[in-house]
Amino acid sequence: MSQVFQVGGREIAASRIFCVGKNYRKHIKELKDEDPEQPVIFMKAVSCIVLPQEKIALPVHGTCLHHEVELVVLIGQGGRNIKETSARSHIAGLSLGVDLTLRDVQTSLKKKGLPWEIAKAFDQSAPLGTFVPLGDSTDLDDIAFSCEVNGALRQEGNSGQMIYSIPYIIEYLSDIWALQPGDLIYTGTPSGVGPLVSGDTIKIAGSGIGKFTWDVL
Ligand code: ZN
Repeated sequence: MSQVFQVGGREIAASRIFCVGKNYRKHIKELKDEDPEQPVIFMKAVSCIVLPQEKIALPVHGTCLHHEVELVVLIGQGGRNIKETSARSHIAGLSLGVDLTLRDVQTSLKKKGLPWEIAKAFDQSAPLGTFVPLGDSTDLDDIAFSCEVNGALRQEGNSGQMIYSIPYIIEYLSDIWALQPGDLIYTGTPSGVGPLVSGDTIKIAGSGIGKFTWDVL
């Protein structure tokens, strides 16, 4: 299934999903992890995207499905070796997403030093809102966002708390992969991650971005 995003009068087909792990110190502490020496990057398939109002089915190969609300960047202009100082001009839009994670599976994989795909990149692991264009006045270092489950606040964050800023992440990724229009970057989650169970409703919201809701079957 190919995904096409509407943003600022443009249609951009989804290309790839890059995700940044360990980008907020309080979240690293709650997982009893250590600060990264460089960005932690993993990927999900575009087929993992869940659009607003679609239902999320609980995966059956793990027992502890965690929500991780994250700011999501949509690349509009590709490039290789992009400098942090010009990264902004490569962004088409911003949204919010959830990096759904099977925490029990991830913990066991981490202990064995194995790749994370089955804990992070399963079907429906990437709920994603709609995009707003990046306005001239948008401060990439001051975007507040949150996650509620059944009306109770679980996560609150601000892009200013990121260890690696959005422009830095774009520079880092573009030294490894030539970025393409339609690439998505899930930029990491603040503290407060927790379980989702059958019957839950998750709502994520961000200043200047909007609110998006999903029901868990
Ligand atoms: Zn995450």
